[in-house]
Amino acid sequence: MTQYVYDFDEPSDGGKELLGGKGVGLAEMTQLGVPVPAGFTITTDACRAYLQEGGLPDGLEDEIAEHIARLEEHAGKRFGDPDDPLLVSVRSGAAISMPGMMDTILNVGLNDVAVQGLARSTGNEEFARDCYRRLIQMYGETVDGVPHDRFRVDDTIESARAAYAAETGRDFPQDARQQLRRAIVAVFESWNSPRAQVYRHTYDIPDDIGTAVNVVQMVFGNKGDQSATGVCFTRDPSTGEQGLYGEYLVNAQGEDVVAGIRTPQPIEEMRERLPEAFQQLLDTMARLEHHYRDMQDIEFTIEDGRLFLLQTRSAKRTAAAAVKAAVDMAAEELITRDEAIARIDPSQLDQLLHPMLDPNAEFEVAARGLNASPGAASGKIVLDADTAEERGKAGESVILVGWETTPDDIHGMIQAKGILTAHGGMTSHAAVVARGMGKPCVSGCEGLELDAQTGVVRLGGEELHVGDVITIDGGTGRVIVGEVRLVPPMINEDFETVLGWADEVRRLKVRANADNPEDAAKAREFGAQGIGLCRTEHMFFGDERLPVVQEMILASDEAGRRSALDRLLPFQQADFEGIFEAMAGLPVTIRLLDPPLHEFLPPLEEATDERLRGRIKALSESNPMLGTRGCRLGIQWPEVYEMQVRAIARAARAVQERTGDAPLVEIMHPLVGFREELRRLRELTEAVMAEEAPEIEYLCGTMIELPRAALRADEIAEVADFFSFGTNDLTQTTLGMSRDDAEGKFLTFYLEDGVLERNPFETLDQDGVGDLMRIGVERGRSTKRDIKLGICGEHGGEPRSVEFCHRLGLDYVSCSPFRVPVARLAAAQAALKEGSRAEYVAAGG
Ligand code: PEP
Ligand code: MG
Repeated sequence: MTQYVYDFDEPSDGGKELLGGKGVGLAEMTQLGVPVPAGFTITTDACRAYLQEGGLPDGLEDEIAEHIARLEEHAGKRFGDPDDPLLVSVRSGAAISMPGMMDTILNVGLNDVAVQGLARSTGNEEFARDCYRRLIQMYGETVDGVPHDRFRVDDTIESARAAYAAETGRDFPQDARQQLRRAIVAVFESWNSPRAQVYRHTYDIPDDIGTAVNVVQMVFGNKGDQSATGVCFTRDPSTGEQGLYGEYLVNAQGEDVVAGIRTPQPIEEMRERLPEAFQQLLDTMARLEHHYRDMQDIEFTIEDGRLFLLQTRSAKRTAAAAVKAAVDMAAEELITRDEAIARIDPSQLDQLLHPMLDPNAEFEVAARGLNASPGAASGKIVLDADTAEERGKAGESVILVGWETTPDDIHGMIQAKGILTAHGGMTSHAAVVARGMGKPCVSGCEGLELDAQTGVVRLGGEELHVGDVITIDGGTGRVIVGEVRLVPPMINEDFETVLGWADEVRRLKVRANADNPEDAAKAREFGAQGIGLCRTEHMFFGDERLPVVQEMILASDEAGRRSALDRLLPFQQADFEGIFEAMAGLPVTIRLLDPPLHEFLPPLEEATDERLRGRIKALSESNPMLGTRGCRLGIQWPEVYEMQVRAIARAARAVQERTGDAPLVEIMHPLVGFREELRRLRELTEAVMAEEAPEIEYLCGTMIELPRAALRADEIAEVADFFSFGTNDLTQTTLGMSRDDAEGKFLTFYLEDGVLERNPFETLDQDGVGDLMRIGVERGRSTKRDIKLGICGEHGGEPRSVEFCHRLGLDYVSCSPFRVPVARLAAAQAALKEGSRAEYVAAGG
């Protein structure tokens, strides 16, 4: 028969998947001799069986009874004893941590009589009453669904019991075993609470793994001034800085800290107040970090001066902290460099590459709070999670402002640009969740007052309303009225270090998509090894250029077009020179004009004369994505591509003459589907290059953006020096989905309804589009073994897709400059994974 229950000191080889993260942590700590209360874990198997069958599986209740008996023996107290009762907490704990999303109930086993027994046996009536009041409230909310606002912080046992009875129509249950049974069921069911579902969806956690339940003997942090409870980290989860970091509350129970109900004290203060327990805490945490070889996040309780650990897990951390901790831990030889690379979540790095407040901007700080999660954001004030979700989805920038946040606000937090709370500490719910999401958060902002009824918000004395714009800086805790200019971030030394290690490991090269010298320079600063896509259409806009482009489009014959193109050429040449110089010594892939020409003309209703109107009509298409664009333009109006190639050739020459270095030019033709297209365009390219710059070496290749191009890659390779997979278009054309008509429309529904797991425009559809790429690679290489292969669609900077490109054997990925560091790390992780030296393990997971 399946065993569903394990004591903390009983061996099991099921790991996290079976016992949940908390259960495994408690078992391991017990084994290590770290002080933890006694207890047992009900497995995720039991939860899955319960969720499937709608009832507790056979045998589970007997097993629980046996383990309670063992716990009674160990504790020397009996569960349900009216004189000196054994009390337990019932705690959720899934394999992947989901902070605050599921339920926990404390003090199970108390009733009207046992509360007096507890008061007598501890000599502390106030404490006993506090425990019972908490049980009625937590049990009421969690087990019987009594709304949170029916209870008050200053409830007495009597008022809490009255509220319970009024809502449920029953008296509070007096039978300890019934309490326990229903508490366990409630924790199982909290797996499917709306907030837990939203959280799982956001973090890609499977819906069917279930949670384990831990039944733990109570230890009390609320027994008086020698008792306390707290949360702390072995390193700062915001910055990664070494040293104990956390918060605690004297005379309190755990939920007070996490729920942000009372603002806790910094842990340092405990050194004076509870010196022995503090020293023991320091030693224990050092041991745990050493044992787990990772930064730990623990929950502890001190009962009458005695320390107990209730939980340890890999700490959730910001990207900055992940980078710093990984570099430091490698330096401390706690982990290897490969492990340091594997420890950092590349998609989280995005956080470090987000804007911050312009250091030169002038602004007044209206209020200050705790720097709970770094990054800066401006947005309109909203006071509830539903509105934040609605406005955020509609594309507005909003800051969710509140007294505190609760796990039920998760949907609003996801859509908000930042979070500001009046209450709560660094380990409050808002802070923990915001850090996990990489969202700016300022918590415990005392200068903030709000009235949700009237929508009035006071910030350091200034009166504001819902909809007014504020700016928060989660790195410093500053709150500012109005919008402040944000600037791009800088890569710090630790980040450089770990990227340097990644560069030694990765095989894929990383280039950037950039079409002006500033972006090219930024890309280089971020470590790009060239430009994989320089889109030239942006160079056709601008006050001086657009009229000339329009003149070219309106010309009635080739001579007219050429005359306009001649005037455009110097502009193009200057653009290319700037880019070549910024990328000296590195390859630059220039893509010739791609978009349909009508994009350069005004809308029909703004046309000023008949000729223009006629031309707009002639060029209009019902499906421009599949119309006269890409190389089809170059085939129909060769003089346009001719001018572009001429500008490239002259720019290359000029830069060589000026700097002594010839740029590494790659000329790329878009949207090729037939060999004949590229053959003609190659001929044109070669003729112009030979005429203008015979000494300049260059490559001539194509994008692979059409299924036909991938399928006929062997023929196309005969006339191509390189392929660059344009997976934006290849996704559209393979899936038959126009991105603009899919995103925000049916695709949103598909994703919400589970038809598709991921947005194929963000994460490569490996089975479909990826398979075409594989065919393209194989067939291309069958003709030309060393044909250069890259990707320049948006997927080139997305970690999963980068890994796929690595496996496919591409030479490089190319992405926007800000994603270059992400791609460098992801490429290194792909290489490590291949050699299975290490694999990324989510922090806290
Ligand atoms: C692509 O299609 O993937 C691509 C990079 O080209 P664009 O996004 O400019 O169409
Ligand atoms: Mg394209």
